[in-house]
Amino acid sequence: MASDTAVKTGQVVTRFAPSPTGFLHIGGARTALFNWLFAKHHGGKALLRIEDTDQKRSTQEAIDKILEGLGWLGLEYDAEPVFQSKQADRHREVALKLLEAGYAYKCFATPEELEAMRAEQRANKLPLRYDGRWRDRLAEEAPEGAPFVVRLKTPLSGETSIDDAVQGRVTVKNEEIDDYILLRADGTPTYMLAVVVDDHDMGCTHIIRGDDHLNNAFRQLPIIHAMDEIEGGWPEPIYAHIPLIHGSDGAKLSKRHGAVGVEAYRDDEGVLPEALFNYLLRLGWGHGDREEFTKAEAIELFDLDGVGKSASRFDIKKLQNMNGNYIREAEDGRLAALIAPSLGDDADLPLLTRAMPVLKERAKTVHELAEGAGFLFAKRPLSMTEKAAKMLDDDARARLVQVSARFRAENNWTIEALEATTKALAEELDLGFGKLAQPLRAALTGTTTSPGIFDVLVLLGKEEALARIDAQAAPAQAGE
Ligand code: GLU
Repeated sequence: MASDTAVKTGQVVTRFAPSPTGFLHIGGARTALFNWLFAKHHGGKALLRIEDTDQKRSTQEAIDKILEGLGWLGLEYDAEPVFQSKQADRHREVALKLLEAGYAYKCFATPEELEAMRAEQRANKLPLRYDGRWRDRLAEEAPEGAPFVVRLKTPLSGETSIDDAVQGRVTVKNEEIDDYILLRADGTPTYMLAVVVDDHDMGCTHIIRGDDHLNNAFRQLPIIHAMDEIEGGWPEPIYAHIPLIHGSDGAKLSKRHGAVGVEAYRDDEGVLPEALFNYLLRLGWGHGDREEFTKAEAIELFDLDGVGKSASRFDIKKLQNMNGNYIREAEDGRLAALIAPSLGDDADLPLLTRAMPVLKERAKTVHELAEGAGFLFAKRPLSMTEKAAKMLDDDARARLVQVSARFRAENNWTIEALEATTKALAEELDLGFGKLAQPLRAALTGTTTSPGIFDVLVLLGKEEALARIDAQAAPAQAGE
């Protein structure tokens, strides 16, 4: 199916094609997202292909991590993943068709010979590329039984243009494309061949990938053109090469910029999947000046027109702020369940859920949320931060005795009642409100930062709150 017709008839097929040599990289996740959204937007299919032909570098662990990362981001695929390594026979079949039809040829050049060729090219400051020495020779000229590779006969003159949906029209002179290898001497297919055959066999109408693959498109097209001439039914896909993601310093995003794996954002950075989804969406795609989209809105609005041509910069602060917004919007029970495991065996889900509205106001990450919740399950005697310990000087401890007495008499343990009682006491003692609230906070939470003090009192309940206050309260010592 021609790709532009695919858009009109809702038969778009995209694929995400990671090489499983490590975790799911942030850049890969964005490519996956754009492919997925484009397919969903057009009512088509999003497919997944694991490019595991490099058996030495591909691991099952990496495959599992990639699948897990995609699942966590909420990208479900419309078919089981295709494993490229399992398609080797089919790749070979296409190479042999090309060979038979004269679009490819056997090259018997030995490694030493090719090394000498490159040395000469180097000496003459020429580009290092195969010079086509077996292109017009007959296989019979080679020694009997000599090993050979199969090379693609790429056009020698003219140019090839691609109307890339992101980059615009890009043209390359055909002479720049060498007769590269399709089948190695041991008969194994190369990556370049495998990609083209799989894209065709999976029916991909749109190839959306990083712009580091733009050069490959010019090498892949001659196979597509040749196969279309041989058997028909090999239309050019529409290409969309999206700019890479850069770090804050403008260099290509890499480990030295910090975490680059999706998993690390989940586990170490405490990011919610919908926040990363939205952040990746906004990284290189825009719709007016809108910042946040639900999944459904993203599907409705995403198209390749909105993808920018220049590299985007990864900004962890922006991601954290966005994450804070998503945390505030997230359901309390879900957040409670998410942080409970990190709070130990005593974490009580109903209490955590009740605490969530006040906890989530101040958290930008899931870890901050868990940190903020820590006081709820702290054991007496509470351990104190340095600042909290300093806050609880003798005067403060003496004030806690008075607070404790008032609170003990309080039958209505609500935010409003406790606030009124505390304010009345502050007035009676002619003290600023903070003179009571700060030691209270220290006694109740062991810290100097926490949700509002009356929220804390209500969440802890009368008994536990009084026990914590009394543990720090001490009457003023006469004469001191
Ligand atoms: N496997 C390639 C990669 O992980 C992608 C190939 C493609 O999209 O054509 O970079």
